[in-house]
Amino acid sequence: MSAQDRTGALPLTLLAEQFAKLPGIGMKTAQRLAYFVMSMPESEAKEFADAIIRAKKTVHACRICQNLTDKEICPICSDEKRDRSVICTVESPKDVSAFERTREYNGVYHVLHGLISPIDGITPDKLRITELLKRIQDGGVSEVIMATNPTPEGEATAMYISRLIKPLGIKVTRLAFGLPIGAILEYADEVTLYKALENRNEI
Ligand SMILES: [Zn+2]
Repeated sequence: MSAQDRTGALPLTLLAEQFAKLPGIGMKTAQRLAYFVMSMPESEAKEFADAIIRAKKTVHACRICQNLTDKEICPICSDEKRDRSVICTVESPKDVSAFERTREYNGVYHVLHGLISPIDGITPDKLRITELLKRIQDGGVSEVIMATNPTPEGEATAMYISRLIKPLGIKVTRLAFGLPIGAILEYADEVTLYKALENRNEI
């Protein structure tokens, strides 16, 4: 459909199409959400739209760990009590939240923003690996925990990074997954996740 045809589409249809872009939202649900927005008072609908714009404008990657934050350096990296010699490397900001929920991990993080997946065109240069290497080169790091999911992409990414880091004399460990293969970190309960961290193995 050309851009000109789109301008003739009903605003409600266009709104539903935006909702349908969200993960896990089919067209039917998207339409329901669009109708729900229509039932909101205008001020609330505006608040909703403003929250999206504000988050997009103010949230960015932490200069050090690449986790999402509205500060230049995130609260975890700025916390003097965290152990900066241990870096837990994860796929996404959601995984940081999962580890933080255990309340047991006292090191810092590095967020890759994805996993290596050549089939999807995600090559190592698309991830925040250079930033991780720079942190290690800056010194003071003794261990890097590869805490990516036990999926083929997660394993490949862990292996790729460990091959880069090990020659630098840094200990590289992998979570001990009592989790079923392919289990997603963000859905693991705190105890399972803590155990996986506690029993990590050197790779
Ligand atoms: Zn940070």
